Parts: sequence; C-alpha cells; structure tokens
Amino acid sequence: MLRRFKPYLRYLKSNRGTLAAAIFYGLIFGLVSGLGFPVLVKYAFPPIFNQSSAPLPYQTILLIVGCVPLIFLLRAVSGYLNSYYVQLTGLRILEGVRLDYFSKLQLLPLSFLQRKSSGDLISRGTSDTAQLQFTLSLIADDGVKQPMQLLGALGFLVGQAFVTDGALLVLVCLAVVPVTVLPVHYIGKKIVKRALQVQNQIGDISSHFVENLSAAREVRAFGLEQREIERFGKSTGALVIAQMKTVKYAKALTPAIEILSGAGIAATLIFAYKAGVKWDTFFAIIMALYLCYEPIKKLGYLNTELNRGTASMDRLEYVLNEPLTIADPVHPMPVTRLRGHIAFEDVTFAYGDSPALEKISVSIPAGTVCALVGPSGAGKSTFANLVPRFYETGAGKVTIDGLDVRAMKLADLRRNIALVSQEPVLFNDTIYHNLALGKGAASRDEILAAAKSAHAHEFIEKLPQGYDTMVGERGALLSGGQKQRIAIARAFLRHAPILILDEATSALDSDSEAAVQDALRKLVQGKTVLIIAHRFSTIRDASMILVFDQGKITAQGDHASLYAGNALYKSLYDRQSAAP
Ligand code: ADP
Repeated sequence: MLRRFKPYLRYLKSNRGTLAAAIFYGLIFGLVSGLGFPVLVKYAFPPIFNQSSAPLPYQTILLIVGCVPLIFLLRAVSGYLNSYYVQLTGLRILEGVRLDYFSKLQLLPLSFLQRKSSGDLISRGTSDTAQLQFTLSLIADDGVKQPMQLLGALGFLVGQAFVTDGALLVLVCLAVVPVTVLPVHYIGKKIVKRALQVQNQIGDISSHFVENLSAAREVRAFGLEQREIERFGKSTGALVIAQMKTVKYAKALTPAIEILSGAGIAATLIFAYKAGVKWDTFFAIIMALYLCYEPIKKLGYLNTELNRGTASMDRLEYVLNEPLTIADPVHPMPVTRLRGHIAFEDVTFAYGDSPALEKISVSIPAGTVCALVGPSGAGKSTFANLVPRFYETGAGKVTIDGLDVRAMKLADLRRNIALVSQEPVLFNDTIYHNLALGKGAASRDEILAAAKSAHAHEFIEKLPQGYDTMVGERGALLSGGQKQRIAIARAFLRHAPILILDEATSALDSDSEAAVQDALRKLVQGKTVLIIAHRFSTIRDASMILVFDQGKITAQGDHASLYAGNALYKSLYDRQSAAP
C-alpha cells in the first residue's frame, strides 16, 4: 500500500504547506461529520422529545436545533477548503510529474528514444498523466475526508462501548469493518495488472496514430487505407477487452461492500434487540455505522483508482528511472573553444548485437574537410554520430584535440559542433526564431548576416511576413532547398570549429542547388568537416576521404589515389558518375 505513494513523496515535499492545509480542513470535516451527527442524535435530540420530564425552554431547543445547520455549515466549509487544497496539491504533483517526464525525454540517450515508439512515449506523457490527474483529484475529494469521517464515527462507536451496556453490540458492528476491507484488497490487487494492460494498449493506439499520420502519403500511394483501418480496429478492440477486464472488477466493489454492510446492519439489529439497547443509543449507533460504511465504500473505490494511478505512475517511472547513460562526467575537463582535431582510437560500436563500427582508428587533423563514403549501411552516420556523443562507444575512444569526448561536459562538447542534416527539421515558429536556435544569444544583426551567408536572406525577404513568417509543422511551408539554407544559416551562426554535414540525397531545384552549394563552400572554410557525402562533386573537393564498408574503414586518401587504388571507391564513383 505504502509503495504506491512512494513515487509521489518527492513531489509532496515541495507542497508541504498546501498539503498541511488540506489535512487540517479534512480533519475538521471528518470529525464534524463522523462524530458530530451521532453525538447530536444520542445526546442533544432525546431531551427535546422526552415527554416524561419537564419540557425544555424554547431557547434551549432553538440552540440545540441550531446545531444542525451549524454542523452542516462547518462540514461544507471545511469540506470545500479541504478539496481546494488537496486539488491544488494534486495538480502541483501532476505538474511536477509532467515536467520531470518531459525533462527526462530531453536528456535520455537517442538509443532509448529509438527503442521506444514515439506514440508510446506521447501516450505516457498524456494518457498516463491524465489517469494520474483523475486519481489525484479523487484522492483530493475523498483521500483525507473519508478516513477522518471513518475515524470520527469509529471513535463514537468505541466511546459508546464504554458508556453504554451495548459493548457487545458495538463490537459486532466493528467486526464488520475489517471484513469489508477484504474485497477492497482483493479487487485492488486484480486491478493493477489490468490497468497496466489498458495503459499499454492506449500506448499502442497512440503509436498507431503517430505512425499512420507520419506515413499519410505512403498510405494513399500504396492504397493501404483499408489495411490501416483494420489494424487500428484490432488495437481498439483489444483496448475494449482490456478495459472491460478492469470494469469487471472495479464495478464489483461497491455491491460487495453494500452486501457486507447490509449483513452488518442486520446483525446489529439482532444484537441490539437481544441486548435491550435503548432506541436513542440504537439510532446513534446505526448512524455511526452508516457513517463508517460510507467512507469504506468510497475508500474502496479510491483504492481501485489508486491502483489505476499506480499502473500509470509505473509507466511514467519506467521512463523517469531510465539511467542516463550519456551524461556529464563527474569531474569534467574545462573546455572553451576546441580546435577540432578528431581522432578515433580502436572504436567499436553496436546498436544491438552485431557491430555497426569495428575497431575504427583514424585521425582527422583540425581544418580538414573529410568526406565519408561507402555503400548504405556501411556505418558513415554512426561514425559521425559518435563525435557529438549521441551514442556511447562500446570499446575504444573518440577524442577531440586529444581530449576524450566523455571527459567534457555535453554542453561544452556540443557547443563546438554544428550539424546540418539531410532533412533539416524546423520548429513550428517564425523563421527568425528558427535561425536564432543556432546560437544562444544571437543579435538580430548576427542572424541576418548568417542568413545572408547562407543565401537564405533573399527568399526570406520575399515571404509575406519576411523573417516573421511561420514555417508550419516541421517547416512544412518551406521547400527542401529553403529548409537546407536555414539549416546552413544556423550552422553559420553557431560558428563551431567542427561541422557535421549530412548531404541531401534528394536533388534540389537548380537555383536552390547552386545557392546551397555556394553557401556550403563558404561554411566549411577553416573548420574540421565530416561530410556524409552522396555527391562526388563534393567528395572530389575533400582533402581527406574515408571509405567505409561493413563497419570498417577500408581505405583513406584523396580522390586521385583512391580512384587509382581502391576498387570499392572506383565502383561507387563510376556508378555515381554514370547516374543522370
Ligand atoms: P550509413 O550511414 O553508412 O548508411 P549507418 O551508420 O546508418 O550507415 O548504419 C550502420 C549500421 O547500423 C547499419 O547496419 C544499420 O542498419 C545499423 N543502424 C543504424 N542506425 C541504427 C539504429 N538506430 N538502431 C539499430 N541499428 C542501426
């Protein structure tokens, strides 16, 4: 039981004040309703109706009767304040969880994110936090008030056991209370596993959406609409089955507790009759009993929901507890601006079982334009990705200026590297802000200068809102060549000594192509450049060429020597040259 609350504890610490207020008001609420009503019935009302003694003065009667609205008022106000503060605590916990989850996603290694589908990760961040929100708001409503009411009513019953002759009766009543906990416990256990299945299934559905929407063109082009609908139908069908399994147990709880309560009340009646309990004591006890069962019923339901919340929390914790395998070293070497001498020393790396790079050793002096060539899947991108430490080497090390990349802070390392990818991704923001990402605190002049160097300024000026034009999701409103030039402008702005360039495979229109090539020529000057090259025009100009094949560097040199001496390079080059 306590284990389920553990994940929330660290969030509760920062919300101690609101939680204390919530508990305080919950305490008042519970005691007023659990204890107040039975006490009124037992002690305050009987003298009013007691015809055998002298009638009470009218003012005293008014005073007693006045207690009824007063108790309701106290109950209402404290109940309201309790809900308000617990809700506040709950929402703050949720905010903390959401923020931690999102922050964690920013820090996790790429290998983790590639292993999980984005739909599943989105679903954890949305559907699971929504379930958590529901659970927390239920706790807000009943989590403090109901146990307090139960305590108040139990307190009254125990008190009655001492002061009346109905001790046995009270014991019978109390005996039923622990019995009602049994179904709560049993059903609670059944729920966790099934709730986890439901959330996993929702994750599946979410993955399906993401996959389907990102492949909208393919679905239409290959006529996959019906197949997609059927696949989706299977997922939703499985969700219904999983959901009904939780419904089966969750909905059995209230009736089970009611049946047990009914038996408890019947037993109480019999014992009360046998013990000759007076009617005022009897009614007060029945009322206290009712006030006990009510919280048990609600707490049972709460327990069910808490289990659902636990399932969701487990799914969030799975990500939250994932170790950050790529993180800053404990004692980082101070790094300002690197020169850019990259060296691989006996580097082996595998995504799964079979190595993508095997025993790579190479030294790329600062200021070298180095082209990586080789058939697809040979390991070129993997090689480039090890430099900014997107992945961790299995064996061997990658150094820059003689410093192991693992010895530097990630931010220091990555500040020294600019990346221009094949299909640059823009954020759904203005062009200006997309450019500004290149450097933390860039001035407008710097941004404009970078855009000019990248031949982006011309087309940006012509857009209806110029630099303030929104680019759409992932930059959808710009052409491939325009996106490339924005990415190049970002790299200009970054002014990093190392540049990693993943050359576009798809051909751009000739105007764009000329502008992009010219911008790149300027960009690479004076930098250590790794180009994952697809065009031999680029490769010919490189001062160093590494030929990759099946995870190994099979040759290195310049174009002339490789063309003369390396069969793989020659065949790749000839094939490329022959292409239209
Ligand atoms: P290239 O850039 O030369 O086309 P890559 O470096 O992308 O080659 O790939 C090298 C090998 O690693 C290939 O066998 C590829 O299938 C595998 N690989 C690449 N990326 C991943 C990944 N994220 N997860 C698993 N395997 C991968």
